[in-house]
Amino acid sequence: MKKKIIYAIILLFVMAVTLYAARVIYQIDPDQCNGCGECFVQCPNDAIYYDYEVWTYQINPELCDGCGDCVDTCNHNAIHEVVSNGSEEIDPNLKISCFPNPLSSNTTISYDMHNGQKGEIVIFNIKGRKIRSFPIESRTGQVSWDGKDRAGNEVAEGIYFYKLKTGNRKVIKRLTVIK
Ligand code: SF4
Ligand code: SF4
Repeated sequence: MKKKIIYAIILLFVMAVTLYAARVIYQIDPDQCNGCGECFVQCPNDAIYYDYEVWTYQINPELCDGCGDCVDTCNHNAIHEVVSNGSEEIDPNLKISCFPNPLSSNTTISYDMHNGQKGEIVIFNIKGRKIRSFPIESRTGQVSWDGKDRAGNEVAEGIYFYKLKTGNRKVIKRLTVIK
């Protein structure tokens, strides 16, 4: 009996930790979205972009913090809650910048992980797809990005994001590639 109670307590603890780690983000249903753009204007995190593959607006899960402003704005009930298992939180103590920006062929990304020692810099496109990553193992430093993806192909002109991540903390900024 005592063992069963201990197992039940452990199970409850694991469930609580799992629920705490999950976070709510949002997705736009292309079948319900009429493309009015109201949510795009409203989003404080630039997380909403126009997707020419589905001809409606979509949400970049890397940038959405689940504030819900777009849901309140949408009159077509097109935005739905989903739960992401990602537990990364924005940490204003993390610093990242790049120069030049806009860039045509190369940029230097400077970072400061505050009290982090190991981390990663990730470059991703406007849809949240990973383009390139750089592991980092010192609190401060620089990495150079040559404007190419993991396969060595030059990326297209446009808006990209670069993220400094250490543990479950992150900071994200925008960069522009011009040709
Ligand atoms: S507010 Fe609603 S209908 Fe308008 S673009 Fe956003 S999701 Fe689509
Ligand atoms: S929930 Fe907030 S951050 Fe996410 S897309 Fe909507 S307005 Fe932007």
